[in-house]
This record gives sequence, C-alpha cells and structure tokens, in this order.
Amino acid sequence: MKIKFIGVGSAFTTRQYFQSNLLITAGNGRNMLIDCGTDIRFSLSECLSISENHVSDVIDSVYVSHLHSDHIGGMEWLAFQSYFSQRPNRPGLFMEESTMYEMWDCSLKAGLGCIEGKQMHLTDYFRCNAVAGDGVFLWEGIFFTLVKMPHIITGYKNFYSYGLLIEEAGTDGKGCGEKFFFTTDTQFTRKLIMDVSDNVSVIFHDCETSPGKSMVHAHYNDLCTLPSELKRKMWLYHYQPDPVPRPEDDGFAGFVTKGQEFVSHRTEQEKSTRRVSKTSKV
Ligand SMILES: [Zn+2]
Repeated sequence: MKIKFIGVGSAFTTRQYFQSNLLITAGNGRNMLIDCGTDIRFSLSECLSISENHVSDVIDSVYVSHLHSDHIGGMEWLAFQSYFSQRPNRPGLFMEESTMYEMWDCSLKAGLGCIEGKQMHLTDYFRCNAVAGDGVFLWEGIFFTLVKMPHIITGYKNFYSYGLLIEEAGTDGKGCGEKFFFTTDTQFTRKLIMDVSDNVSVIFHDCETSPGKSMVHAHYNDLCTLPSELKRKMWLYHYQPDPVPRPEDDGFAGFVTKGQEFVSHRTEQEKSTRRVSKTSKV
C-alpha cells in the first residue's frame, strides 16, 4: 500500500501546496482518493502526470471525511466526469452515514440532482457504502477504521470530521504491517490523539501555522506540547503557505511535502505466510 499526499495545504492554499487530499494505492494498483476538494483535478493531474480530462478514470473509490469544500468541492466534478466519461464508471464512496446523507441533501443535490430527462440520486453516480461513526470498512485488502474528530464545536450542532486508522489486512483477516493514523481536520485534542495513537507507527496530523489560532484546526504551538515519543512519529500537513517553523527542531518527523509518498511494509510473518499460501496453491 502507498499513501501519497497530492496536496498538503489548508482550504485557502495555493497551487504550490494544493488542498490536503490523499491518494491510497492498494497492492493491486487500485486507487482510492481520501477527500476530493475544489482543486482535485489539478492536484491529481499534477501528481499522476496525466491529463485533467482523464484523471477521474484512475479513481476506483473515494472516502470523504467531512463537508468543507476543500474536502468535497470536487465531488460534483468527479460524479459528472465519471458518469459522462467515454468509459462510464461509478466510483465507490465510503463515508460516515449521516455525513453522506447531509452531503447529498445540503450540497451535491443542487447540482447533481437531475440530468436531461432524469432525476438522479447519489447512488446513480457512486457505489455508496455508508459506514458507522466508529465503524471499519475493508477496501482492496486494507482496513480503514473511522475516528470521530472534533472539528467545529458550536454547542448546538457540532461538526465532526472522520479521521482514519489505515492498515493492510493480513491473510488471517487481521491487520498486518504498519498502522497509519490520518487525523483529517481536527481541533487540538490531546487525550484523543494519545489514546488513538498507541499502536500507530505514523501519525499524519492537521496543523495550522498561521500567527493566530482558528481553534478549529490544531495549531503548531499546541502540537509542540505533546510528548516527544508521539511527536517523533508525527508528520504535519494542512499548513498555511510558507510555514515558518522547522518541525524537526521541535521533535516532529517533519512537514509532509506535496507529492510525498509513504509505503506500508507488511510484517515478516505476513510475508512468509503469503509465500507459503501462494506455493501451496501451486
Ligand atoms: Zn474542515
């Protein structure tokens, strides 16, 4: 499995960084987008070095963490582009269940709700898989576990983003290899991060680097207060253009750079199990 950052910036970023969306490539070569923001066709085209016209053809599925436009602003494009493609396809869609309904009702339905001569629904464009807020789904041999992250707390209607624990599935149906934690957009939440990150090899953490704190994203200065064993495995993304700090000096793994790729390695035990089962099949 490969995890590639096709963008690392905030919602109001520039082409130099692009919005923080990811591409996960499974062992069989299939691709899943993790979030699909307004600049997705440009970021994906640049990342994969293919034309913007054909970029949707390589997407098997998409996961959406929450409903801000740097995470869903490209969904109408992906839906129409896939539906009306020379080779029409219906990408898989994985989302927390209530967020999926809200995305359709409050955002996408206005543009995607009809085409000439036909009423349309989300399921006409996507193979929809609604997932419980603390649920797990399996895609192409990879486990994804949702983690509910506080993004905007109003006290009336709170707005959550669903982060992901990502781990390859072994032949025994359990996780094998490194476990990655991708926070998606989140406030700074010390206890939750420490609880979730216990058996995690790599943490990708939302990090704002603006002079002031928005409070809806974890600020760099607050992340600096985390224990050093946590910071060592923490890569920071979703930062503002031209960030000033040098994360390595403060004990972090670093800022993720646009296009940076992380590869998951299976455990030696899993590799040998796979070798044996392959040989015995022959
Ligand atoms: Zn957001």
